[in-house]
Amino acid sequence: MNLLTYESIVSKLREKNVTLIAVSKTKSVDDILALYNVGQRDFGENYVQELIEKYEQLPKDIRWHFIGHLQSNKVKYIAPFVYLIHSIDSLKLLQEVEKQASKHNKKINCLLQAYIAKEETKFGLDFDEIKNIFKSIVDDKFKSIEITGLMGMASNTEDNLLIMNEYKSLKNLYDTLNIEFPKHYLSTLSMGMSADYGLAIEQGSNMVRIGSLLFGARKK
Ligand SMILES: *Cc1c(COP(=O)(O)O)cnc(C)c1O
Repeated sequence: MNLLTYESIVSKLREKNVTLIAVSKTKSVDDILALYNVGQRDFGENYVQELIEKYEQLPKDIRWHFIGHLQSNKVKYIAPFVYLIHSIDSLKLLQEVEKQASKHNKKINCLLQAYIAKEETKFGLDFDEIKNIFKSIVDDKFKSIEITGLMGMASNTEDNLLIMNEYKSLKNLYDTLNIEFPKHYLSTLSMGMSADYGLAIEQGSNMVRIGSLLFGARKK
């Protein structure tokens, strides 16, 4: 845990009105508390079981962001407390979140995860699929979820120009949706990780998900 790094990232982001999600997957409850104690409230996790265990042990004013691949049959476990799901990658998953949110009489905010990287392994929707989801929510079938923005992961590469262009394409989609679907105004563009958050912010990100730079490298 490097609190100096934390403070310097936070002050840089504050200047630009960018929200920091501290990605704490595989890290301990004590690591999380160390950041909590200096004021961090938004934390991101990738695995349902791990998130539930941490949620139970940690202060209840933490805003938990689910950022990993989410299976529909696990939505019910996080629905009672999750703050924002960044990783909606199918209409089926969105429908399940709607169902679970309505059971709990709450609204769950969601981001659609866009597929922008030139890699086969990344989850996400392509741009046409995202537009189609917007067309279907315009009919107002969804009462218990709100799509508040988009999330994307760039290629894992040293090629900054490629990363920049991937982020730029997502920002363009975000702007286009806000013009085409003004009733569903998007306010959150979640892009940028430890290695590329500077590039992401240059391209218009207003939420970054940073793990290893804050907590040190992960073992797996
Ligand atoms: C792990 C992860 C991050 C953080 O990655 P770092 O390189 O450690 O900053 C961000 N976003 C998602 C979706 C992740 O899975």
